[in-house]
Formats: sequence, C-alpha cells, structure tokens
Amino acid sequence: MEVKTHTALHVLKGAVVKVLGEEAKWTASVYVSGKHGRLTVKFNRKPTKEEIKEIERLANEKIRENVSVEVYELPRDEAEKRFGKEIYDLFPLPEEIRTLKVVVIEGWNINACKKEHTKTTGEIGQIKIRKVRFRKAKELLEISFDVV
Ligand SMILES: [Zn+2]
Repeated sequence: MEVKTHTALHVLKGAVVKVLGEEAKWTASVYVSGKHGRLTVKFNRKPTKEEIKEIERLANEKIRENVSVEVYELPRDEAEKRFGKEIYDLFPLPEEIRTLKVVVIEGWNINACKKEHTKTTGEIGQIKIRKVRFRKAKELLEISFDVV
C-alpha cells in the first residue's frame, strides 16, 4: 500500500505544478502512512477550491493514462547534467551522496528519490484529496490525500 501511496506523491506533485505553476515546484516534505499521504510544497497563497479540484482531476487523469514510472540510477553529477536541479527538493541532499536514483514520470514529474515505486501510474488506483492547509507564516501548502 505504501508503495502506491508514495508513488501517488510524485503524480500529485506533477499536478500541483501544472495547476499552480513553477512557484509551487519545491517540495518541503512528504509523509506516507498506509493509504494516507501528505505533500507539502513551498507556496505563497492558499489555492482556490477550483484549483484543488483541478489538481485532483489531473492527478487521476495521469493515473488513468497508466504511464510508466522510470527509475534511473546514476552518478550525481551526471544526474544533474541530464535532468537539472529539478530533481531536488527544497532542502538539499547531503554532499556525500554521490549516486542518485531519479524517478521520472515523463512530461510530468522528475525527482531524486530512493524509495520504492510502482512500475506504472495505473497501479496507484485513485487519489482523493482530503484536506488542504496553507501555513501563511511559513509559506507552506499541505495537501493531504488518500489512495482509494
Ligand atoms: Zn519516490
């Protein structure tokens, strides 16, 4: 279950950036417990209800497309050359990490990630966004969801 929920974070993140734009591209943290997941990104305002609906719709569309989730393992400098700094989250990976696994959902999301993933997005099933919280002081947007 957690492999599905974790993979759902990548799909959801792609949808978040499509709807809210590049300003939402830095992931601050992620959390997974069973079918429940939470994605926290740096952002500067609370999204509208319509934007949240659209994020959920696009994420589920990408799941239904059943595209492959590719994992490339390569030296860090090669990964940066090939994919750019987009692979990173808000907080930098320690310098001593020299080999990266880069998870690619083509045209959707690229992220250095060493966790386990499903082979395709279709295996996730469906995402339901349960709660959205914007923490103004920290400029953090938390999106909680369940895989159903
Ligand atoms: Zn991952």
